[in-house]
Amino acid sequence: MTSAAYDSNNIFAKILRGEIPSHRIYEDSDTIAFMDVMPQAPGHVLVLPKAASRNLLDADPTVLAKTIPVVQKIANAVKEAFDADGVFVCQFNEAAAGQTVFHLHFHIIPRYEGTALRP
Ligand code: ADP
Repeated sequence: MTSAAYDSNNIFAKILRGEIPSHRIYEDSDTIAFMDVMPQAPGHVLVLPKAASRNLLDADPTVLAKTIPVVQKIANAVKEAFDADGVFVCQFNEAAAGQTVFHLHFHIIPRYEGTALRP
């Protein structure tokens, strides 16, 4: 079964268009990063390409090639800024896998030794 089409009314598309606010911590011509509004832990950041794709399954590899270095940059920045022992990087593809906002994004969450990881 193929993915549904990209819906430009999703909340991250609205953030990208400036229609609703976000706490942006990084932006370049292809990518933005902002604080998650319902963080799993302090320092929970979302990194997303500006290009329209629903998730990893339909993303253009050339877009991914620009996005992943930003994920790496922000993961290191979050680790340092929040004095974390590690960083959890994840992303969900389709509702069955936990995706609720259908514009490709990567979660970056600081992690600490001795604390439980949410499944
Ligand atoms: P899940 O909701 O299961 O984490 P996603 O991977 O689709 O699924 O993540 C969407 C994320 O977007 C959630 O962590 C949610 O808190 C976050 N979010 C929703 N609305 C906003 C918003 N307006 N600004 C920032 N983050 C948001």
